[in-house]
Amino acid sequence: MATYKQPCLHCGEFIDRDSRLCPKCASRSPFGYLCPTCLRSIEKDEVVCAGCGRSLYVVCPSCLGRTFVDERCEQCGAGLMIKCGNRRCGELQFFENTKCTACGKKLTNQR
Ligand SMILES: [Zn+2]
Ligand SMILES: [Zn+2]
Ligand SMILES: [Zn+2]
Ligand SMILES: [Zn+2]
Repeated sequence: MATYKQPCLHCGEFIDRDSRLCPKCASRSPFGYLCPTCLRSIEKDEVVCAGCGRSLYVVCPSCLGRTFVDERCEQCGAGLMIKCGNRRCGELQFFENTKCTACGKKLTNQR
């Protein structure tokens, strides 16, 4: 039986529809967008997250352009994720997050 494949929204790679993580770009939401703060699924035409109320458009720290809360800036392509400082966690977190969504530890933004 052939597996149903669908392109990853972030890198375009065709991956299994039931994948929870893209093997190519390591996105944790290959077929949709997730709020980087509360991990609720969000749509690109929404302005604030209905779950936590955070703004879904931010100013990119690299080019100062307006970008959706994705893993990369829509304008300049700069990565918007930082690695959790907890050695046993190391999950990528949105740069504006104050707390790691995986381990709950406070994030220290070294920038
Ligand atoms: Zn991908
Ligand atoms: Zn949210
Ligand atoms: Zn940018
Ligand atoms: Zn963590």
